[in-house]
Amino acid sequence: MGRPAQGPDEERAAFRAELLASGLLVHGGVDGLYQRSGAFERVVRGVEALASRAGHGRGGPQLFFPPIMAKDAFERTDYLRSFPDLAGAVEVFNGGDAEHAELLLALEQGRNWTDLLVPSEVALSSAACHPLYATLAGTLPAGGSHYEVQGYCFRHEPSIDPVRMQSFRQHEFVYVGEPESARSHRDAWLERGAELLESLGLDVRVEEANDPFFGRAGRMLAANQRATALKFEITAPVSSDVARTAIASANCHESHFGETFGIRTADGIAAHSACIGFGLERIALALVKRHGTDVERWPAEVREALRA
Ligand code: ZN
Repeated sequence: MGRPAQGPDEERAAFRAELLASGLLVHGGVDGLYQRSGAFERVVRGVEALASRAGHGRGGPQLFFPPIMAKDAFERTDYLRSFPDLAGAVEVFNGGDAEHAELLLALEQGRNWTDLLVPSEVALSSAACHPLYATLAGTLPAGGSHYEVQGYCFRHEPSIDPVRMQSFRQHEFVYVGEPESARSHRDAWLERGAELLESLGLDVRVEEANDPFFGRAGRMLAANQRATALKFEITAPVSSDVARTAIASANCHESHFGETFGIRTADGIAAHSACIGFGLERIALALVKRHGTDVERWPAEVREALRA
């Protein structure tokens, strides 16, 4: 049992250098921001298509969300309570000519021109399923509802680790309805998701989630997450062989969104919800780590499975 030649930080830096040198990703100017090559994007779309096929007949309507969501709905998800350090909102300019002149002067003088912006009615989406719940207020059909959704997520965590992108996509299968069905949705998808990722040659494990809740109150939330075992992750070696990365996660929200957004079951109780989210960029990166930067030389069965 030899010690790894590199620590996790050196491994992450080396993997990023390899991704940039291969042209699969292009540095977007700040840590955690990348432009994607055609080859990388084709892998992402292949993973998306593979997940979609696995959900065929049980996914419900497909919805594709933009990178921003209504700020009111964002506030009601409670994301700010748990992860204020990762969240972001959008500010805009709404002045007249005088304010515009002030803005241009600030820009010219290298001052902080964003001081002259004001909050808008939108925030950056925190999770792919978050924009869905506000649209479901009311009573669900008997048996609940399934949705297949995809959206961009924002996490302000600038890092040299390529798995920590500030903007990335999750492809999710969401159930909203009865408590028992929510749990079985999560459990069935956790198994199906792990099988699907394993079929691509990935070394996957299912583990209980250990989210980085913020601050003192966060320690309680983290302890509660461990005690209730509501969220699990499918992990694989991505930017480090030593420290595994979550490439998908399956989560029971109990009645949290049902209560907050006024979603009721046909029996009149607050709906429970559950989702599995496939982290599309992270899965693509896990595949690059496993099979190399030259996608054309990946095993034929993997390339076949990723046919979009
Ligand atoms: Zn979700």
